[in-house]
Amino acid sequence: MSAPACRLCGTPLTRTFVDLGMSPPCETYPTADAIDGAETFYPLHVRVCESCLLVQLPAYIPAEEIFDDYAYFSSYSDSWVAHARKFVDAAVERLALTPESFVVEVASNDGYLLQHVVERGIRCLGIEPAANVAEAARRTGVPTVVEFLGEDTGSGIAAEHGPADLVVANNVLAHVPDIVDFAKGLRALLADGGRVSIEIPHLLRLIQGNEYDTIYHEHFSYLSLLTTQRVLAAAGLVVVDVEELPSHGGSLRTWSAPAEALDADPTLGPSPAVAEVLAQERAAGLHTVEGHAGFADQVAAVRDDALRFLLDARRAGKRVVAYGAPGKGNTLLNHCGIRADLVEFAVDRNPYKHGRYTPGTHIPIRPPEALDAARPDHVVIMPWNLRREISVQLAHVADWGGSLVTFLPTFEEFEPGT
Ligand SMILES: [Zn+2]
Repeated sequence: MSAPACRLCGTPLTRTFVDLGMSPPCETYPTADAIDGAETFYPLHVRVCESCLLVQLPAYIPAEEIFDDYAYFSSYSDSWVAHARKFVDAAVERLALTPESFVVEVASNDGYLLQHVVERGIRCLGIEPAANVAEAARRTGVPTVVEFLGEDTGSGIAAEHGPADLVVANNVLAHVPDIVDFAKGLRALLADGGRVSIEIPHLLRLIQGNEYDTIYHEHFSYLSLLTTQRVLAAAGLVVVDVEELPSHGGSLRTWSAPAEALDADPTLGPSPAVAEVLAQERAAGLHTVEGHAGFADQVAAVRDDALRFLLDARRAGKRVVAYGAPGKGNTLLNHCGIRADLVEFAVDRNPYKHGRYTPGTHIPIRPPEALDAARPDHVVIMPWNLRREISVQLAHVADWGGSLVTFLPTFEEFEPGT
């Protein structure tokens, strides 16, 4: 098979960023009836383009398959709704939005963000590919159309509703297979004097934080500011400002304007923050293809440490249980080959997962009470980003002499409650 082509510039992708082997879709948890059946595994082989440096996973799974029963409702997370409210407050001030303005959000989910725009009496429209999620948004008073954004749908929506003063696309750019068509869709929606605001997990933080569990099939592009600029430039957009955010292990929020607007008024940007983030990326080597080479070794070291611990525990006759069975944990489990022989079972708060198994590795998932009943010697915290909060919840593991463990960003074994 010939090398896949870069989704930004078309160059054949011959360079590996990291190859995590084969893995099933990370959100498909088989039931007891299904685990004797076949499971489809897809490659998790991330490439870096030698020409434009876009780090990317070829679209192994068709987008329709992913969004078909997509049932993530953003409003379920209080902190995310608060993040959205702060964003709307800041955007209204930054762009001096008034009730005459028009705001469009792409991948608007259940209206978690646009509800704050509606509250301010500003006209808005959500664009959301999942019909059931769009319906939930409409019920809360957020006008929403069911569409995948591309240049054609963007033009059609702008013709019908008018051009937007602000187009918001949070945590979606990395998840679209045809990234250039999507960016052109953003431009098509935008008024000439408008701004596009995009949030993306930052590749630099992924590398520095060893966050390789954020690699999964639905996550097609792993963006730096440099490559984001290149994607947007292909659609006639220029990044004029950037903010660094703590969300998703370290994200960027870029603000972009149409190239024509900058031609007419070069004072619009880019801001000093753009040069600063680009300098950080250069210091880490992300301006060259060779600078991307070390990540695979970091990932191998995580796997070695995790397996060494689990194999030692097994030989010593210790019981190991996982706390949490999040979708992103499955990248690590599959890559390391951690099955029920090494981790007896996992507990999770989500009742949907009880009685099911982790995809590919088939570790049984039980309710949280099962942990206390088993009194394991070691508890591996899978959502390691919540380590502190979960460690406090699991302080009583110390009562039976158990320890807590995280595999990421690096291996750590520690006292419960610390
Ligand atoms: Zn490329």
